[in-house]
Amino acid sequence: MKVTEHLKQAKETLFSFEILPPLKGKSIQSIYDGIDPLMEFKPRFVNVTYHREEFIYKERENGLLEKIAIRKRPGTVGICAAIMNKYHVDAVPHLICGGFSKEETENALIDLQFLGIDNVLALRGDSVKTEATFKPHQDGHSHAVELIQQIAEMNKGNYMMDDIKLEPTSFCIGAAGYPEKHFEAMNLSTDLLYLKGKVDAGAEYIVTQLFFDNQKYFDFVEACRAAGINVPIIPGIKPIKSLNHISFLPKFFKIDYPEALSKELLKCKTNADVEKLGIEWGIQQSKELKAANVPCIHYYTMSNSKEVKAIASEIF
Ligand code: FAD
Repeated sequence: MKVTEHLKQAKETLFSFEILPPLKGKSIQSIYDGIDPLMEFKPRFVNVTYHREEFIYKERENGLLEKIAIRKRPGTVGICAAIMNKYHVDAVPHLICGGFSKEETENALIDLQFLGIDNVLALRGDSVKTEATFKPHQDGHSHAVELIQQIAEMNKGNYMMDDIKLEPTSFCIGAAGYPEKHFEAMNLSTDLLYLKGKVDAGAEYIVTQLFFDNQKYFDFVEACRAAGINVPIIPGIKPIKSLNHISFLPKFFKIDYPEALSKELLKCKTNADVEKLGIEWGIQQSKELKAANVPCIHYYTMSNSKEVKAIASEIF
């Protein structure tokens, strides 16, 4: 079933979460171990992130460097199928522009359709670690909006390589939104302009980047509505869980901690202190979001279900 149908049918705020494919060499059981503890909260859908290849340079005997692509995590198609089969919930694969030609994107979507997967979160993806800026595949998409357009065309029966119309797909398309602005955007206004472009192209709902300050989400929703973006906006949150996270999360996700949280984080001496605070903060954030009647709260587990379970037990 489509995410938007789940949202329409819901009588109260839904619970959903995101998992990462396991590192290469781990079994599907490692995914189930992350999902099992959260099933009691009745997620209607589970997102699976996509991680593009990384590049390393190896020195050859002649002294020249050879660029080698390595995949640390498997793709999402098989994992989504396994999740749907085992738990009977909808899986939402993340599909990115980075590393994909349009034809490869089309093939991936055809596979998803065969497997009965109704949803896709369409993203651009970040630059690979060895490049300063995002570089699209030479036959691929530069921005998420183009990927959304391709999926929307397939939903009308317009495939890339064929002159005749084929059986239309029926994907429900989600897109990413940034309450604290995407780090490359000139300002929030241009970011919202492009976000509206994604919705006009066919995105039916938005999932936000993680944030710790609910006011930023509420302001973002208001700004989206003022900009004519009228689709559901699902808040994404993540419990902070270790001393490392304190600097990693703002650096990696380009987000700020509100002062009340940073003051408490300064008092933390151990990972356990941070984890406890992260759970308490996550509970307060979730309570306030739920009271505001948000359609769904989406938790970034990063495949660690312990803290999300502790929060969800108080909320759902
Ligand atoms: P876009 O919408 O293309 O926006 C990127 C930047 O370009 C923004 O600054 C925007 O303002 C600007 N822009 C947009 N359209 C245009 C245009 N037409 N012309 C000029 N500028 C434009 N990454 C992964 O690799 N795998 C994942 O699984 C993944 N999951 C994510 C899930 C969520 C909910 C979120 C919020 C992010 C996720 N990301 C993931 C990270 C995401 O890929 C990066 O944040 C990426 O840098 C931007 O992706 P986007 O889809 O928002 O890009």
